[in-house]
Amino acid sequence: MSFRSFHPPHRTLLGPGPSDISPAVLQALSRPVIGHLDPLFIGMMDEVKQLLQYAFQTENAFTIALSAPGSAGMEACFVNLVEPGDKVIVCRNGVFGERMRENVIRCGGEAIMVDSAWGELVDPALLAQTLQAHPDAVLVAFVHAETSTGALSDAKTLATLARQHGCLTIVDAVTSLGGVPLHVDEWQLDAVYSGSQKCLSCVPGLSPLTFSPRALEKMARRQTPVQSWFLDQSLVLGYWGNGGQRSYHHTAPVNSLYALHEALLALKEEGLEVAWQRHRTQHEILKAGLEALGLSFVVAESHRLPQLNAVYLPNGVNDAEIRSRLLTEYNLEIGGGLGALAGKAWRIGLMGYGARRENVALCLQALSDVLR
Ligand SMILES: *Cc1c(COP(=O)(O)O)cnc(C)c1O
Repeated sequence: MSFRSFHPPHRTLLGPGPSDISPAVLQALSRPVIGHLDPLFIGMMDEVKQLLQYAFQTENAFTIALSAPGSAGMEACFVNLVEPGDKVIVCRNGVFGERMRENVIRCGGEAIMVDSAWGELVDPALLAQTLQAHPDAVLVAFVHAETSTGALSDAKTLATLARQHGCLTIVDAVTSLGGVPLHVDEWQLDAVYSGSQKCLSCVPGLSPLTFSPRALEKMARRQTPVQSWFLDQSLVLGYWGNGGQRSYHHTAPVNSLYALHEALLALKEEGLEVAWQRHRTQHEILKAGLEALGLSFVVAESHRLPQLNAVYLPNGVNDAEIRSRLLTEYNLEIGGGLGALAGKAWRIGLMGYGARRENVALCLQALSDVLR
């Protein structure tokens, strides 16, 4: 048997992530490895932290990139903030809300569900009712941008309700960060996690994470140690910060962090508001084209994500065949449906560097060709 180097083709990635990566970010990956405790590397990590604070719109001192994908960011929030016996209200309107429930159970917590239909946003009135019925709840968890359906929930209103009832919030911002407005401090969100490979357009495998002082206080009051050693953020605190006092916790993914630095720099240079508007503008163009092809959206216009466009398959169309033709004939990836929408919908992502006019044009042309 003979093996050769692997050379992937240049695809256009318009699925639910990973998204297209800019040449500048790809170049950053191939720079020399230096030690992860090298003073120059530590200086770069401090910048990553500041750039993440900008992206999250927060002054939280605990703002880091976890060395693991978004799912680990989710797990980090739950294992650090949920103690056995804690009552947690979990809002579920798609795949990722269900994963939150599983996390609560595995932490020994009790999950109280607030269910909304797939494609709907989390219903604030239902959350208010549930908070009233469970005054002993300590946390509220919800997904800001549900990637399985393309629905955007009102994080500000949900967090306000949680706070009025003395609950902290765990917020999934994996798909929202960099794509739609997210104001961690203004909305007083407590534990927020994201992913590197969606609207930040970086390589997969890192999870931006920010904890408010209120979240850190709850961690400090824990009666039981966090059951996961790797995800125990009290141990990571000493690695990511506190001036020059950096001690070894795990070997940082050095080159991936160069890439994240570069991707965050691009976001800072473009400006958050401009990036949000770019996602919105490209979404409008895509929407007009998809509707002209006779496709209809899963989510109502009022709470539709610009960066994740879920549309129903036309009648009689073979999902696998169309997506395979897009991939092989156009080097174009779009996403299939997930969970309740499997085989029924496509998910077209316009995330980060991928949210560009030429990608929208390619997608519309290719879809129109293969559907004909
Ligand atoms: C992609 C995604 C995740 C999981 O991120 P991974 O990096 O794939 O582990 C979690 N939540 C949402 C809303 C996502 O879109």
